[in-house]
Amino acid sequence: MEPRLNIPVGSSPIHRVGLGTDLHRLEPGDRLRLGGIDIPFDRRLCGHSDGDVVIHAVIDALLGAVGLPDIGERFPDSDPKYRGADSRTLLAQVVAEVEASGHVLANLDLVIEAERPKLSPHKERIRQSLAELLKASPDRIGVKAKSREGVDAVGRGEAIACTAVVGLTATSR
Ligand SMILES: [Zn+2]
Repeated sequence: MEPRLNIPVGSSPIHRVGLGTDLHRLEPGDRLRLGGIDIPFDRRLCGHSDGDVVIHAVIDALLGAVGLPDIGERFPDSDPKYRGADSRTLLAQVVAEVEASGHVLANLDLVIEAERPKLSPHKERIRQSLAELLKASPDRIGVKAKSREGVDAVGRGEAIACTAVVGLTATSR
């Protein structure tokens, strides 16, 4: 068992804050990969690695919080190694780097913006998946889903976007 930060959410002092945003276009497919889970849908996210826009936003928030280069520099899409890569593997590497920097997740809050499919039935699974990947308890993670009311590329159902904010607590300094 990995050790977990065993103090109540309300009493964790935040030492670092990170922000990440991402957007991926949709193309015909049979499932959506969001937050490390697969959601049945007639479109898929395309782009860098598996296109998991949620994990990419979380990775950028974590990297930013500890002052490391962003996801594009860390896992360049020009490198064939990352083509079709499972974003969960990339996140695991970043979580290890965050731990090595002497920090642990205090909380993660994210907003997923999608016109379709309706994400509310899947929010809890996404939360559990992220909790597992981040080695954190689910009560440290907030998942919100919104639509853009038919406005812009996300609103027209051509893309899905995600914004993530993380707070980190220092473990060793
Ligand atoms: Zn991305």
